[in-house]
Amino acid sequence: MEFETVAIHVGQEPDQETGAVIPPVYLTSTFAQHAPGQTRGYDYTRSGNPAFTRLGATLARLEQAEFATVFGSGMAAVNAVISTLSSGDHVLAEENIYGCTYRIYDQVFKKFGITIRYVDLSDPANYPEIAKQNPTLVWIESPTNPLLKILDIEALATACHAAGTELLVDNTFASPYFQNPLSLGADLSLSSTTKYINGHSDCLGGVVCTNSHAWNEKMIFAQKAVGLNPSPFDCWLISRGLKTLGIRMEKHFENALAVATFLENLDCTATVRYPFLPSHPQHELAKKQMRGGSGMVTAIFDLPLEQVVKLISNLQFFSLAESLGGIESLICHPASMTHASIPKEEREAVGITDGLVRFSVGIENAADLIEDLQTALNTL
Ligand SMILES: *Cc1c(COP(=O)(O)O)cnc(C)c1O
Repeated sequence: MEFETVAIHVGQEPDQETGAVIPPVYLTSTFAQHAPGQTRGYDYTRSGNPAFTRLGATLARLEQAEFATVFGSGMAAVNAVISTLSSGDHVLAEENIYGCTYRIYDQVFKKFGITIRYVDLSDPANYPEIAKQNPTLVWIESPTNPLLKILDIEALATACHAAGTELLVDNTFASPYFQNPLSLGADLSLSSTTKYINGHSDCLGGVVCTNSHAWNEKMIFAQKAVGLNPSPFDCWLISRGLKTLGIRMEKHFENALAVATFLENLDCTATVRYPFLPSHPQHELAKKQMRGGSGMVTAIFDLPLEQVVKLISNLQFFSLAESLGGIESLICHPASMTHASIPKEEREAVGITDGLVRFSVGIENAADLIEDLQTALNTL
């Protein structure tokens, strides 16, 4: 069964009792038991609900994983993984990671003795750090947010396993349609389902996929014991959005390539990053481990900050907003929005400068999007 068919049919079989083609959502906190401890498979929604089971079944198949545990947000999924660590454990991470992942380590878990160190893992010359630092876990994103660096998942998984550690890949930016980290050797694939997987910017969710029984047990435990469960209704919405993931990603890819090409040809951009532009430094690697690009495009404008702000505030179809991966186009200024929680010097050291603008290109008509950008540029 191919991707689009899995997305529509797996975990989404018609309701056994009524034949309803769309499975119902059970908005219930608790489940009646036959006798004490004798349930019909569910006891309390924090530890399970049919909507979690259905969404998890679809996501596991799409990520080519044996198991998937769903959470209330991408950060709840991040929290679930970190909650399995102990005081004294340390994590080695790619230096360009999502701002809130940086913050949860720095401001929440550091005080419990869990430390994180950052290194540029897009550069194979730094792989020896993995064996040298002997971390409990290696944490990466690819493509990274917002620089869209591509990390070699297969090579990193090999380096991690040789060093006796494990690799987590945050797969939010690629989506399972374009990249499957577990098939490339990663131990955990985490996604914020809020983004491409749901795709309609109307609820939050997260997932952790794995082929490891031990990790699966730990994720199920975190869901109920730490209270990281999603809401049944949000899972129902995500299951609905997920059915069109394949067709949406194709259009995001087509539109993003058009927008990136337009931006690259402007005189006022210093750099345009899109993994499927031949100018991307890791274009060959992107083609090797991804089946296509998402809607994320990053441009560094060679303009003063006021002009960048004016440009991104004057667009009709790109809403100035955090988040990404929805059908509608969004634009974001990471230095003052998503990555504002990272100190300025650290942010600039990894390349998140004031001229950097991140586009989440939606599935509108590409010509309309380009005309919108040109109109705003003409006012500068
Ligand atoms: C948004 C995002 C998260 C967090 O997900 P939420 O659903 O917002 O909690 C984690 N990682 C990446 C790469 C993200 O883009």
